[in-house]
Amino acid sequence: MRYHIQTAPVWDAYKSGCGCPMCRLYGSTVARLIDQYLNEAVMEPAYRVRVNEAGFCAGHLRLLYGGANKLGLALQLSTRTDAILKKLSPVADGKAAKKEAQKVARLNSTCVICDTADEIMTRYAYTAAQMYEHENDFPSAFAACDGFCMPHYALMLTNADRAGKAAKTYVAALYRLQTESLKKINRDTRRFCEMFDYAGQNKGMKDAEKIVPAAINKLKGEIIPGNR
Ligand SMILES: [Zn+2]
Ligand SMILES: [Zn+2]
Repeated sequence: MRYHIQTAPVWDAYKSGCGCPMCRLYGSTVARLIDQYLNEAVMEPAYRVRVNEAGFCAGHLRLLYGGANKLGLALQLSTRTDAILKKLSPVADGKAAKKEAQKVARLNSTCVICDTADEIMTRYAYTAAQMYEHENDFPSAFAACDGFCMPHYALMLTNADRAGKAAKTYVAALYRLQTESLKKINRDTRRFCEMFDYAGQNKGMKDAEKIVPAAINKLKGEIIPGNR
């Protein structure tokens, strides 16, 4: 059987015990793309065309700037600004300025790394669905994970039909996992509130400092630039 993406990283993510295996895959995907855009992509015309066209979002620009190739980044930014300059137009009045503003906002809201990462995450989601149908051990590893963040739950549902004949069991398992995981977050945050004393201190609760970050990650995804 031919998968569109390797299954080994999917296995690793589902066995990692983290709050969302897809966030884990997203983190490693972004790290790989940042490395790519600081290395081979700098001298590859096809990549440069895409960078000139779409640019980078703020979060990914910060990660690129934190990397070890300032020259490579500057080269990409010089031709990206060339491309932007060609698209800006002078405006005659306030009404035209509003229209130009919309164009500028669109022009500045694209990111080649976000776009590529989204495509890869979609492939990871349907690979998991295919693995659920075809790999004997995967359903049990899947059932043992701690669900997904809500954006990735939506992504998993969107691609659930890729489980083919197993789609019905797969969507039932997805729902069960996600609701169990959310119920745990619900219980933990309630307990966290109940344990607060009048001095505003949380006492006697093990791992109290992890409860609120876990709830945030469950609702919105791990805070990795570009994660959406
Ligand atoms: Zn996630
Ligand atoms: Zn981005």
